[in-house]
Amino acid sequence: MRLSQSLIPTLKETPADAQIASHRLMLRAGLVRQMASGIYAWLPAGLRVLNKISAIVREEQAAAGAQELLMPTIQSADLWRESGRYEAYGKEMLRITDRHERDLLYGPTNEEMITAIMRESVKSYRELPQNLYHIQWKFRDEVRPRFGVLRGREFLMKDGYGFDLDYAGALLTYKKMMLAYMRTFQRIGITAIPMRADTGQIGGDLSHEFHILAPTGESGVFYDAAFEAGDPSAAASVEAFYEQMTTIYAATDEKHDLAAWEKIPAERKREGRGIEVGQIFYFGKKYSESMNFTVTGQDGTKIFPEMGSYGIGVSRLAGAIIEACHDEAGIIWPDAIAPFRAAILNLRQGDAATDKICGDLHEKLGQDCLYDDREERAGAKFAEADLMGHPWQIIAGPRGAANGQVELKRRATGERFELSVADALAKVLS
Ligand code: ATP
Ligand code: MG
Repeated sequence: MRLSQSLIPTLKETPADAQIASHRLMLRAGLVRQMASGIYAWLPAGLRVLNKISAIVREEQAAAGAQELLMPTIQSADLWRESGRYEAYGKEMLRITDRHERDLLYGPTNEEMITAIMRESVKSYRELPQNLYHIQWKFRDEVRPRFGVLRGREFLMKDGYGFDLDYAGALLTYKKMMLAYMRTFQRIGITAIPMRADTGQIGGDLSHEFHILAPTGESGVFYDAAFEAGDPSAAASVEAFYEQMTTIYAATDEKHDLAAWEKIPAERKREGRGIEVGQIFYFGKKYSESMNFTVTGQDGTKIFPEMGSYGIGVSRLAGAIIEACHDEAGIIWPDAIAPFRAAILNLRQGDAATDKICGDLHEKLGQDCLYDDREERAGAKFAEADLMGHPWQIIAGPRGAANGQVELKRRATGERFELSVADALAKVLS
């Protein structure tokens, strides 16, 4: 992509109303714009981040056996009357009346809808277990939308729903999802810790929240330093992995257990703040019973399936990652989800050799690079590339270009390398 022809409206000034770094940087790097309180437009570079996060989520969900579908944002109130949550949900639910005076709502979550879909189509024990998810916009009329996309009113969520025949099956699904989540966060390039959590509006009795550590997080978190070395890809089995994740201490302030905490050696105690980027729940027959979803068992009896739900805040993640990965100069994107893997900075637009090198690199790197081909001072190009946080900067100027050399800068470490064009390309693509 050529920067001269892109809508990446960076800001030099710090927006006055943004209280935390990720919000300021998302506005300054031209990723999002607020359209109404808690409602954001995702500009081209921001959308690329959302899409890259979603792609990793999809791959890991598929690997764990979940199927993708797409449910609508608007739901009928009648569905929610069946489960009893229409009244219970309160003011966070955006309620809408259509021209025929029918009550609708903008979905804050989808347990009722997926249960209704399953109830209509799945009749026999032979058709279970199944695990279904979608990535769709949600609306929750938060009292205090704040921190940009971290607490929006409209936000993008991956929400998945497991249906099993019995408790053992549902628990296995829960464990598989915990592993899939840890793999997802690991691939994205961040550390998220699963913590025992309350179940809130969704209900049920087993739940974990996944927290990214950041001083601006809304939850107080307590955990054992053993989590800092976690590598879920090394897990021998789902069972062993789950055992490990749930025996090492980690809890949010709501679930903090002082007696258990006292048993941890002082040098391993970690206390801080976390941003919740996902949550998983096991809640048994809560929705299958209230909405009368049964399948026929092997012996002909009716079985209410055991359910769980599995959420990841895709749009919140974009902000939370920046909260965890930035410095004074700007964002430091993890490679896997950066809007662009590399930026090419042409320091002398119009110099034949420099233009040639940049043009060739742009062609070879394709859509995943941003070519700063603007008539701008070098200093401005450096500052904007640092602000946008591309993992790699390929800097080309006439002096190096005369010998076929460019400078390669790694954003995360600040390391710089003088390389031939081919070597720079190989390093960026490796
Ligand atoms: P919170 O406690 O932060 O209000 P929640 O526990 O109500 O969130 P869940 O129902 O667990 O949210 O939703 C799953 C995920 O969706 C959360 O882990 C979070 O990442 C994301 N999410 C929830 N509310 C918002 C919001 N207002 N803005 C952005 N993302 C959100
Ligand atoms: Mg939650």
